[in-house]
Amino acid sequence: MSYKSSHNSTHGVMFHHFHSETHPVGQGSLSAETLDQMLDWLGKRYSILDAGEYTGRLLANTLEYTDICLTFDDALLCQYDVARPVLNKRGIKAFFFVYSGPILGEFHPLEVYRYFRTINFDSMESFYDDFFALSEKSLGEEYSKREGDFLNINYLGECPFYSDSDRWFRYLRDHVLGQANYAERMSSVMAIHMIDPEHALHLLWMKNMHLQKLRQDGHIIGLHSFSHPTMIHELQTEAQQDEYQQNYEHLSEVLGEPPITMSHPCGKYSQDTLKLLEAMGIKVGFRSSMAKTDYPTKLEVPREDHANILAEMSK
Ligand SMILES: [Zn+2]
Repeated sequence: MSYKSSHNSTHGVMFHHFHSETHPVGQGSLSAETLDQMLDWLGKRYSILDAGEYTGRLLANTLEYTDICLTFDDALLCQYDVARPVLNKRGIKAFFFVYSGPILGEFHPLEVYRYFRTINFDSMESFYDDFFALSEKSLGEEYSKREGDFLNINYLGECPFYSDSDRWFRYLRDHVLGQANYAERMSSVMAIHMIDPEHALHLLWMKNMHLQKLRQDGHIIGLHSFSHPTMIHELQTEAQQDEYQQNYEHLSEVLGEPPITMSHPCGKYSQDTLKLLEAMGIKVGFRSSMAKTDYPTKLEVPREDHANILAEMSK
């Protein structure tokens, strides 16, 4: 395990899912109480800066290595309902990195699948059992061949909180099946369980109104692409440009000001991505791991996953 209790570099803390009475417990989700405890724990070890101050100091090169900020990815309604009251009670301003697709009514499979897994299977392992069995059936010999490749590399070794099945699932999804086949596979699993994906849309994501409220609270809203491709760095430059441009236009219109911050979906980007973001006037960007703690540009600031912090807190 490579996690150090005290990183010697400035970074963001990355949050995703929260649960409450209205948002079901899912893999890695936090309650308001746990978030509160985590902020106490972090506050004893680091200086938690407001997002605006963090931006200013990063740009002025005056961040201390103990300075951190809080970041929330994917425009999830559970963040608004569960985390926002905790932040506002403490007077902490955070970054919210928003992808536009689901807010503009475009069904996005990634999060719906997660919700589907959460409410239909008593454990992630039982979902994986179904998914792996279906994949093996359709891939035939290819399945064990690719599993062999996977076992030879330390895939997602920088994310110690992932189980072996989590890592194999992601490898299958991103490197073996590809987006289209993965969507098809998930649709067939969902069809067996008679799930309507459209219904989940309203339960999972914020709307424009929520973004405006967050901004009024003093939080900073930044880019996170339009449709959240899991491998955005492999898209043609024009397609990447399109992803960020649509996202940029949506946020500029809703918030009445152009965004200048962002986080990379799934932590993925290429040199082309950085160039096009810079050309759009984006000043600050976040990766999604601490695999490298230095940041060659201000569009590559590292982040620690809340799951790692939770593991560290329980030691
Ligand atoms: Zn994301």
